[in-house]
Amino acid sequence: MRLPNERRNLSIIIVGVGIAGVTAAVALRQAGHSVQLFEKSAFAKEVGAAINLAPNGARALRSLGFDLQRALAYRVTGYDFVHGETLEKLNIVHETPKIESGTWAVHRADLHAKLVRLACESHDGMVKGEWGLPVDLRLASRVQSVVSRHDGAAVTLVDGKTLSADVVVGADGGTSVVRSYVLEDYVDEVKQTHSGMAAFRYLIETDQLKADKELAEWLGRTEGAVALFADMAETTAEKHIISYSCHGNELQNFVGIHPSKTEVIEEGDELKGIMMQEYGHFHPSIKNMIGMASHLKRWPLYVHEPISTWIRERVVLIGDAVHPMLPFSAHSANQAVEDGVALGLVLNGNDEADITDSLVKFEKLRKNRVARVQILSSVRAGREAEVQKKLSKYLDLDVTRPPATNPNRCIHDWSYDILTESKKLSKL
Ligand SMILES: Cc1cc2nc3c(=O)[nH]c(=O)nc-3n(C[C@H](O)[C@H](O)[C@H](O)COP(=O)(O)OP(=O)(O)OC[C@H]3O[C@@H](n4cnc5c(N)ncnc54)[C@H](O)[C@@H]3O)c2cc1C
Repeated sequence: MRLPNERRNLSIIIVGVGIAGVTAAVALRQAGHSVQLFEKSAFAKEVGAAINLAPNGARALRSLGFDLQRALAYRVTGYDFVHGETLEKLNIVHETPKIESGTWAVHRADLHAKLVRLACESHDGMVKGEWGLPVDLRLASRVQSVVSRHDGAAVTLVDGKTLSADVVVGADGGTSVVRSYVLEDYVDEVKQTHSGMAAFRYLIETDQLKADKELAEWLGRTEGAVALFADMAETTAEKHIISYSCHGNELQNFVGIHPSKTEVIEEGDELKGIMMQEYGHFHPSIKNMIGMASHLKRWPLYVHEPISTWIRERVVLIGDAVHPMLPFSAHSANQAVEDGVALGLVLNGNDEADITDSLVKFEKLRKNRVARVQILSSVRAGREAEVQKKLSKYLDLDVTRPPATNPNRCIHDWSYDILTESKKLSKL
């Protein structure tokens, strides 16, 4: 028989196995719960790009026993601004505060695979006695609908099977079915405005790039830095290509930001022609580099406003399902990681009556923090003053003034420690 305040291990269903879903799975397993993960694809999607892990994301992952080096993550040492047409180093000083735990570049597939391992392995050396059972991962299992009750929640798969749990977590990304349910009465809030920009994303093997003499020289001098190839012919559009290493420096990741009204995600080598047009005036070696691109994709970039509700009874949203954001400060995956870790911390040590209260606490812990990061992500570094009014609606006890400069934004975004913040919340 359980005593009245005795902790109960919960059954939790997570919909979607992106970075948000799998991080939450690890954190909830480590908190002792039984987790089932449902992923619609046979293999988790979008394997071909890298992610910039900021100090806050790296810190949160380490709290789960995640080893960045084993995931072949690459420590970012600084920023290198390069003239797109001449490949000369530009004399731009981009001072960012040095924050413990560092910034890392990691191939999404490496990060994802190691998190899945941490979630599903039964004999990991790091497993403590109190961890829950290995997570039950179901691929090719699309969730069609979700429903919540005051004492639990259930998902129905496309094959008609219904499964129940104490809590359902919607980590099903930008086209979330769980969000449609949670925000059924708040549909007006789910708005997206086209930013007028799109992003090419692709990878190239480092050795292949070195075959081009000038790119080899650039790689030699830029090692460890995030490089930004700027369009100096037309600076108002802020067209540029960002590059950094990943997968143990075997691959270089590229993101090409450019003006575009495209509304769909596109994929394939025919995009190279469009990219050549966009960057046709760049240095011949950059055009050579575009010719080498593999897994080339183009993403439309939308601005999303913060959403006021993350939960509906026993159903909770995390990751891009609730806070998609522009990639300008490279923060979505970092916020997804913070969400996942936070869920494990907040749903740790509940007695049964507390589950809904814990989800309310989770929302309280995350909502303003994420809203600020999301709003800041909508403007480039140095333009924080433009969003002060919006930010002022999402202040907290510890953040009484919105960050108004880029160094302050970096401190705000990067020095955040989800463990410390969740402890503060539990004392309230
Ligand atoms: C151009 C670009 C550059 C970026 N660069 C960075 C960066 O440098 N740093 C950074 O932090 N972030 C970056 N991001 C963002 C990052 O890739 C994601 O935002 C982040 O990984 C969070 O993902 P998620 O897990 O919430 O959602 P997703 O990765 O979309 O995962 C959702 C999962 O749910 C599954 N799913 C969906 N519907 C269902 C269903 N009905 N049933 C079952 N499964 C379902 C999907 O198949 C998918 O696997 C970038 C994004 C873009 C577009």
